[in-house]
Parts: sequence; structure tokens; C-alpha cells
Amino acid sequence: MKTKHLSLRIVIALILGIVVGSICNLFIQNGFIGGLDKYVFNVIGQIFLNLIFMLVVPIVFVSIVLGVIGVGDPKLLGGIGLKTITFFLTTTALAITIGLLLAMLFQPGQGKSDLFKSKDVDKYEQTLKKDSGGEATNQTFDQTLIDLFPKNPVKAMTDENMLQIITFAIFIGIGIIMVGSKAQIVHKFFEQTNEVLMYIITMIMNVFAPIGTFGLVAHAFTGAGFGAIQQLGMYFFVVLLALFVHFFVVYGTAVKLLGHYSPMKFFKAFIPAITVGFSASSSNAALPVSMECTKKMGVRPEIASFVQPLGATINMDGTAIMQGVATIFIAQISGVQLSLGQLITVVIVAVVASIGTAGVPGVGLIMLAMVLNAVGLNPAAIGIILGIDRLLDMTRTSVNITGDAACALIVSNSEEKKLATKNSA
Ligand code: ASP
Repeated sequence: MKTKHLSLRIVIALILGIVVGSICNLFIQNGFIGGLDKYVFNVIGQIFLNLIFMLVVPIVFVSIVLGVIGVGDPKLLGGIGLKTITFFLTTTALAITIGLLLAMLFQPGQGKSDLFKSKDVDKYEQTLKKDSGGEATNQTFDQTLIDLFPKNPVKAMTDENMLQIITFAIFIGIGIIMVGSKAQIVHKFFEQTNEVLMYIITMIMNVFAPIGTFGLVAHAFTGAGFGAIQQLGMYFFVVLLALFVHFFVVYGTAVKLLGHYSPMKFFKAFIPAITVGFSASSSNAALPVSMECTKKMGVRPEIASFVQPLGATINMDGTAIMQGVATIFIAQISGVQLSLGQLITVVIVAVVASIGTAGVPGVGLIMLAMVLNAVGLNPAAIGIILGIDRLLDMTRTSVNITGDAACALIVSNSEEKKLATKNSA
């Protein structure tokens, strides 16, 4: 991928998408604009998205198998896993804390108690009653644990159940290592499939990413609830500010101090992935590109292929930030003062809720119900922020995937020596 050139083209497409979409938003009632949005922006955007999604499951599966083979040693794998989970949990807790602190400082819900009377709340109450909104948050811990292990790996793939795909891939990888020379052809098969998949993703990015990004972003902005943003301006602003702080300060510092890598170079090299995450609002969709980007930074492929798919599934710092700010916002408009104990509960539950958030659009908001329930706030209040969530989802997804990439870089750096000696032995 000619990243430099490509990044520039995608960024231009993204800006064009924002400008054109925002203008169309003004004339959304007009039939021509409605048609343009439905039949042009949306169609090219969705085709691009499908092309990427088509590769997510095979790439995740194949690259984790190769990652496990590359690491080769279950003990080393355990160490990598431990470091990865520690980084994920720490940064997510930091993210919510930043969100909570900024929300308490800026008080986005102050004087807005009338929002609670809006019909959006009733509407969401109905949704919570009848559909999966409630279900998604009802998964019990024991079932979550059981569900890590797929009964049917093919179903896991058709359901795009990332955790089950990861588990299955780890077993296949271990199997190939243990069987050794007798599984040489299978090993080669995975290596060569990986080459082919990488070629396809590079081609898709080069040919379709700029136009696809334009379509997705133009569509999102055409339908964006700008009117609602004015009402909820302060909430919107605080979420963005917290995302910004976490992105530059926390990741920048971590990359510099723990990864010994220039933050500027890191952010720049990750632009193609960020734009895909942003336009698709999906960590999963960004995966194939984000793994390519980190490999270009020198992250070892066996680490990238393990850390990033796991991160796209369980590490959602941006989502946690939104959940923290939203909780304070909803508490404020409900006239509830959260105690210190409740704030700590928010931190803990939001870590769990963000882990449970799937890397697809909008799920973070559904999982917010879990946090609100934990501190006795009405989950139907989610209806108030629903209208502007798409734009925030785009931004928080970019943060989510950047956290995974920072982790891959740091873990790769710290395991470099062990992996290098193992591979040269
Ligand atoms: N869209 C987010 C992601 O894929 C998840 C969310 O917060 O809704 O990372």
C-alpha cells in the first residue's frame, strides 16, 4: 500500500464527505438530495464496507493461526496475553476517569432537566421493553465464559463472533505447532492464504477506500442530527474533548514511554485505519487495515495479529469515555448527585460494558444501559442522546482502534528480544 499517497487521498475524501454531507443535511427534505443520499452515497459506502467486511473473518482467523505459530511457545503466548490484558484494562479505566472528570468539570447536563420530558425517552423505553436492547446487557458472567468456546466454529464465523473465532484459531495454531512436520502443508496453506488476503485488502484500499470513505461519511453527515447537536452541544463537546485528550495524551505518552516510538510517526502511520474506523464506525471493519498499518510501523506480525483482533473485540476506550460522560450527563439532567461510591461503580461497570461492546456501530450506546442500571438511573434516557450518537460513534471508534494499535506496538517492543532469540534459535 502506498500509504502516504493513499492516506492523503482518503483524508481528502473524508473532508469532502463531511462538507458535502453537511450541505445535503440542510436540504434533506428535498427529493433529489434524499435520492442522492440513498442511491449514491449510501450505495458506494455500503459496497466499500461489504468489501472490507468480506475479509474480516478470514483475515482474523488466518492471522491468529499464524500468530500463534509465530510465537510458538504457549508460555510466551501467556506472557503476551497478560501484558495485553493489563494494558487494555488500565487504559480503559483511565479513559472513563478522564471522561468522568471532564464531565464533572463542564457539567454538560446542567439546567437541561426538561430534556427528560422529551418523547425520545418514551420511545426508547418502548425499544428497551421489546427488543434486544435489554437482552444485550443481560448476558451473565458464566454464560459469557462458556460462550468463549465455540460449539460450532463455522457458526462462530457466520455470526462474526470474534472471541469464538479467536479461540478456535488459537487451537488450530497450537495443533499445527504440535503436529509439526506432518502439518507442513497446512502451515504453508495458511501462510499463502495470508499473502492472498493481504493482496486483496491492499487492492481494495487503493482502489475503493477514497470513494468508499466519501460515500460513508457523506451519508452519515447527510442524516446527522445537527439540530439535536445544538441542544446537546455541551455533552457532544465534552465527549469529543475527552476522546481527544485520551487519544493524544494517553496514547501519545504510552507510545513514547512504553513503546519507545515517536507518537507523531505512530499517529501518521495509522491514518488509513483511523479513517476506515471513523467512516464505518466499526472496529471490526477497520481490522484488516489497522493490522497492515501496525506491521508497517515494525510491529511483529505475530503480535499484531493476536493483540488487534482481541482489542477490536474487548478494548473500547472511546466507548468507555462516552459511557462515562453520558452517565454524568444523564445524572445531571435527572437531578441526581452521584456519590463517590457510585462513581467508582461507574468506572468498574463501564470497563465491563465496554468489554462487552461488539466492534460494530452503535453497540456502545446499548451497553450504556448496563452502566445506568448499576447506579439507578433510567436507561430510557439513552433516547435523548441517540440522535447524535452516530457522529460520536465515528470518533470513539477511531479512538478504540488506536488503543489496540498502541498496545500492539508496546507489547511487540517489549517482547522483541524474546521473539527474536526464539526465532533465530
Ligand atoms: N462502534 C464502536 C466500535 O466499533 C463500538 C461502539 O461504541 O458502539 O468500536
